[in-house]
Amino acid sequence: MTQATTEATVPYEEALAAYDPVLGLEVHVELNTATKMFCGCATTFGAQPNSQVCPVCLGLPGALPVVNEKGVESAIRIGLALNCEIAPWCRFARKNYFYPDMPKNFQTSQYDEPIAFDGHLDVELDDGTTYRVLIERAHMEEDTGKSTHVGGATGRIHGATHSLVDYNRAGIPLIEIVTKPMVGAGERAPEIARAYVATLRDLLAALGVSDVRMEQGSMRCDVNLSLMPTGADRFGTRSETKNVNSLRSVERAVRFEIQRHAAILASGGSVTQETRHWHEDTGITTSGREKSDAEDYRYFPEPDLVPIAPAADWVERLRESLPEPPAARRRRLQGEWGYADLEMRDVVNAGLLDLIEETVAAGASPAGARKWWSGEIARRANADGRDVPAYAAAPRRDPRPCGGVGVVGHQRPTQ
Ligand code: ADP
Ligand code: MG
Ligand code: ZN
Repeated sequence: MTQATTEATVPYEEALAAYDPVLGLEVHVELNTATKMFCGCATTFGAQPNSQVCPVCLGLPGALPVVNEKGVESAIRIGLALNCEIAPWCRFARKNYFYPDMPKNFQTSQYDEPIAFDGHLDVELDDGTTYRVLIERAHMEEDTGKSTHVGGATGRIHGATHSLVDYNRAGIPLIEIVTKPMVGAGERAPEIARAYVATLRDLLAALGVSDVRMEQGSMRCDVNLSLMPTGADRFGTRSETKNVNSLRSVERAVRFEIQRHAAILASGGSVTQETRHWHEDTGITTSGREKSDAEDYRYFPEPDLVPIAPAADWVERLRESLPEPPAARRRRLQGEWGYADLEMRDVVNAGLLDLIEETVAAGASPAGARKWWSGEIARRANADGRDVPAYAAAPRRDPRPCGGVGVVGHQRPTQ
């Protein structure tokens, strides 16, 4: 049984007339490395439950982790693409808490020493203007296992008869990308949130570091939102809506939380700092758990892993080899091919940029390549029983070979 929860809201325009929204987004992205972050287990999606596990990712006594160099490389490339500083020296940290899908009883993460920090990402909005999202940090961590609650009507633990745990996902490398609080977005906060996640997804796809499939959970977004009275300079209390798993849901969740917070504040109440669940079907959020402060996790530096000290020349080589940012590439190709805005949008949505680029390079005319591929992708999607965007959303892998450069160092550099 789900508890029948109705959350009071006020109309969106009314909320915006009285309050300024403050928005913060945390995006978890699963890297597409062949093996896990601290052991050699495979990361294949959809494998037989508990077939991709070992003493390290099961947290058995005495097992020792080793850092996946490719994971560190991807983290640095993501940090660079987000215009971040790359830490010359940083460590992993233990985030201690109990959860059945986390066999070690701590998550190996980073705390006050993230590998990348202080960046930004420029996001194009529907009206052609740009909003600069400031990035607080991008840090390395590992995913947890996956619980399945069986026997209830909803798949949630409430009402289930028993639960199953699959540890295949435990230890898969994750990068958590955290924005600074976004202020001044006003009524465009929901649109900015969606555009940011979309821009980030395109960037990560271009980097080839992740499958970035929100519906499969390889990219997940937590939406932090608070309101403050118009013109105020102190932030209000935030809610954190967890695991919002589509672009459209990100936009809707921000909008809903603005309306819900406004109803609480307008009636003289105070917002509870808590996590919330997003309900795709009804478009509302419901209360999750009261949020721990960082102290409760008793973070401390991970004693079983050496610090990460990426060599400066390695970082520079990674910087030089970054791909052209997707938005810049789209503008360049549209100019070169002479496509109208609408034609370009269809081509992008159908995932045809690479194919048309190759076809033109092989001698076809841009107009001819567009017409042929548009027809072909529609035909294939139809044969597959899907619409074109769904058909086009195929995973991409980083085609470059694994870098063989030393990453770890034992010495903190003298400053
Ligand atoms: P936590 O560990 O609680 O998830 P993080 O630092 O990882 O905290 O992320 C918090 C996110 O919430 C960041 O994106 C931050 O910018 C944002 N944030 C912090 N304070 C507020 C606030 N008052 N209103 C809205 N967003 C906030
Ligand atoms: Mg967080
Ligand atoms: Zn393992």
